[in-house]
Amino acid sequence: MRLFCGLFLFVTLTWAQQQDLSWKADIFASERENEMAEQDALTRYFGNDKRNTTFFPTWDAMKAKVGDFINVNTTRLKNHNYNEMTAWLQALRLNYPNITHLYSAGKSVEGRELWVLIVSDKPKEHELLEPELKIVGNMHGNEVVGREAVLYLAEILCTNYGKNKYLTGLVNGARFHLMPSMNPDGYEKGFAGDRISAMGRANANDVDLNRNFPTKFPQHREPSGGNDPEKENVAVMKWLQSYPFVLSTNLHGGSLVANYPYDDSVTGQDGIYTASADDKLFVELSYRYARAHTKMWKTGRRCGLSADGDNFINGITNGAGWYHLAGGMQDWQYEHTNCLEITVEMGCFKFPTDDMMPKLWEEHQFSLLSFMEMGLTGVTGLVVDRNNNTVANATISVETGKDIISTEAGEYWRLLPPGDHQVTVSARGLESDTFTVTVIPGSRAVRHDITLLACGDNETKSELYIRGRGKNLIAVLSFDEIGGQVVDELARLTCTGDFTIDKDVSLMLIPNMTNELKGRLSDFDPAAVLIISEGIVETLTFSVSENEPRLFDKAKMDESLLKALGNSIQCDRKLLESKTALRVDDLQLKKAFELGISVGCDSTDLQKKAATVGTIADMIKNELIKDSVNEFSVVPSAHPGDHFTPDQVILVTNAAVAELERKECVQELPRGPNKFYLMGSGKPPYTLITAVEKRTEAMAYEMMSTYCNPETNAEFSEILGKSTLVFMPEIPHTQLNCHDYDTISPFKLLLDEAIGAVPELDFVIILATGGMKVRYINDTIGIGKSIAEVYRSNHDLMKSSETEGCAKGFPNEKEAIREFSWNDNASRMDKSGVNHAADNLDALLVQIGCCYENMASGHLYSENQKSVKNALIERTRGVRITGGMEGMTVSIDHMHKSLPLLNGRRFVPLPNGEHLVKVRTAGGQIHAQFAVVISDKTPTAEKFIGVQSSNMVIITIASILMIISCTFMCRQRVTSVLNRRGFFNGIGSNHGFERIPLYKSDDEDEDEVFDLQKL
Ligand SMILES: [Zn+2]
Repeated sequence: MRLFCGLFLFVTLTWAQQQDLSWKADIFASERENEMAEQDALTRYFGNDKRNTTFFPTWDAMKAKVGDFINVNTTRLKNHNYNEMTAWLQALRLNYPNITHLYSAGKSVEGRELWVLIVSDKPKEHELLEPELKIVGNMHGNEVVGREAVLYLAEILCTNYGKNKYLTGLVNGARFHLMPSMNPDGYEKGFAGDRISAMGRANANDVDLNRNFPTKFPQHREPSGGNDPEKENVAVMKWLQSYPFVLSTNLHGGSLVANYPYDDSVTGQDGIYTASADDKLFVELSYRYARAHTKMWKTGRRCGLSADGDNFINGITNGAGWYHLAGGMQDWQYEHTNCLEITVEMGCFKFPTDDMMPKLWEEHQFSLLSFMEMGLTGVTGLVVDRNNNTVANATISVETGKDIISTEAGEYWRLLPPGDHQVTVSARGLESDTFTVTVIPGSRAVRHDITLLACGDNETKSELYIRGRGKNLIAVLSFDEIGGQVVDELARLTCTGDFTIDKDVSLMLIPNMTNELKGRLSDFDPAAVLIISEGIVETLTFSVSENEPRLFDKAKMDESLLKALGNSIQCDRKLLESKTALRVDDLQLKKAFELGISVGCDSTDLQKKAATVGTIADMIKNELIKDSVNEFSVVPSAHPGDHFTPDQVILVTNAAVAELERKECVQELPRGPNKFYLMGSGKPPYTLITAVEKRTEAMAYEMMSTYCNPETNAEFSEILGKSTLVFMPEIPHTQLNCHDYDTISPFKLLLDEAIGAVPELDFVIILATGGMKVRYINDTIGIGKSIAEVYRSNHDLMKSSETEGCAKGFPNEKEAIREFSWNDNASRMDKSGVNHAADNLDALLVQIGCCYENMASGHLYSENQKSVKNALIERTRGVRITGGMEGMTVSIDHMHKSLPLLNGRRFVPLPNGEHLVKVRTAGGQIHAQFAVVISDKTPTAEKFIGVQSSNMVIITIASILMIISCTFMCRQRVTSVLNRRGFFNGIGSNHGFERIPLYKSDDEDEDEVFDLQKL
């Protein structure tokens, strides 16, 4: 009752407040929103610093900082049509010729100019290292507050120049490009007093300009976005590329919030927080704007004039986290220029009446200044070579954030959130260099010029070279002259960019290995060492066997090496000489895989030889990584701390699972290092669902909690009523890297464990990424293929095509569906001769995410929900035999294999049709024989084969049923908690707009050990 009364009071209050709301009313937060305001992205990134007025100045703080200034006369704070706007800009140009420059970025469809007023101390030229900043208003023609605000801002920057210190400093420190209207045609169709209509929103061709930019996911495009870029957008794209813009805001209206990239979610769904690589910086920039507004920063409901007012936390939002939008300007800009742009909704009226304008300007004036100030922060400098020539197109990269490209004059500007940052500058043909910069909030940009040396400049010839920044360390060295030349050449190729090393690899290159370098080599601690030698073309493994990657195949490697380098018969077999072995041994790299590669006896084709060695290094990395899939069976560790931050461990393992257990929805079954969770009726069929990558773990947990909430879907209840699901949502040593699979045999040992824990398991669904396709094993019960087809045909990203959804997979892996086998090469390589229980499993390996995608995993379950559900429904097609005894077997029709009954029962999957079933005793006599008819109407048949069963069997069955019985009472979706805490939020980035190939490590060929085409 108390709850009910409280709720009633709350509803009444909210209703009363709504009645009270007007366009200038304050913002109201519910208790829940206040709670969320302490858990959002702002709080995660800035903690209590979000209240620090140096980080985030308030309206009052900005007012004090700016000091007295001449503001726009109140009588002039009103709407301005195209002619009036043009007159305003021209007046400023005439009155302030020394600090203004008026130009047009192009014309609208109806021929109006897209005016831009520059305000700066040298308005007509780009001053070296002075940042170019811009503001764009009125992109939606009926959203006009931004248009007016840009005009007023231009005026205060001009009229206060030389009078107000703060504003003069801004004008001297940056070049402002102010575009009051990007859609002047639409404006003329709008009307004052318009709160939320779409009249005048689009351009003259009725195209929404903020849906009309080239988009990463063209399939997400809405009809309002048109097709080819509109005239206004073509002009703006050219404009954005003709100045080295650093920071921008795009001013809209209709709500009150600062919105940051990405606007488009990977799945095209709304409400999916889709972080860019610069998420923290964007949060900072957005809150800078919101906080200096009189009220935008407040949490809660705004624009509540109607029932559909918006609610925001701290006045900022990730674009797609609000609703997704394809073809927007800010996403395009983020991906294609150096500029960072946010989109600000200026207020609840799109087209206010004249009398509302003074208050709106008062609210926004300091936000605009506080935001633009950020354009003068971060780190900036010049990139030059050792001859002091400027280096254009150098890449400035930071650990987390997009790459910035230096200008023709070698300038760069990198805005950064507060703290220490490692900045790496690289350019083709030059050595890259890294420095650390500390960004202090409230301080102007740190100047850091950098001189890049030519390849080899900073390295004493033939000593040692480091290439790449990946985490897989591989050393390449030589003891002789020809090998040394090859290593030198590889150092040169990797420096000039003629050979690109895999991004996950760091190479240490030592052309002439000496005793003095032994310390350097062991500090590097490589996982593999390639010893390049003269001699007949071949390889030799020096390592003791445990260091050799299981996937390494010497015969294949030698064959490919010969194809690449040709045969050189006249050579000695230097690698076999004992002095070589002794020198390798002397390196004392006990943990490294040591591979000798001899490359012939002459110095011809050095480039080809070096590229071959580089390719082998990449390949060895792949084998080392893939090999680690085997590790979980060797060094078991199910400690969740292996996979998650402490915060996430608490969330995932305690909040999620404990909650589910408390609701008696799952039954935990600990088994060694692994945790299994049983869910469902306790009846066969038993299906194991396991995630083998970090990226799919969250999906498994989300699935558990969704299935615990069968009110959301009656079919879940049906699945759980007719079968048993066994979840293993995490495996020890889970794969952190996305990669493609050409085998699932390395999971055998893990699945053996599962069968040991739950002997009735006969099917497994393995959740992974690294592609958009389904692989199946059809070994025993023969359902892998049909369930694979059900899975694929219910998956939106797979069903439309026969080839896999991640573009440019390698040739043999392109099919959307393909059969795998437990008895494959990887299995045969394991010569232990152990019989695996898993050999009898049918299995599905579903690869449900491309490697190049954002690491966000929140969308995976929603994309796969239908596939999983239908696969599990399909799983219950067949006959369930009960009442038998141990030792009995069942065979059906002409099936070759007869399946043993387990606990006196067995579920036999069957296709539609009539089938003859025979159950035999342990001695082989027919115990029961009957026909069953399976159809879509009755997919699951039941048959009790009524034996005088021993009490033991009954007790066993009864106790199993009791242990596993579920109540399905969970009402709360744990995932919503996780989502709210941002657990599923992405932290990766995408580069480029169209789909790009899987990363190089997946790019292997079946027959060749390495790709000869690439050499
Ligand atoms: Zn808009």
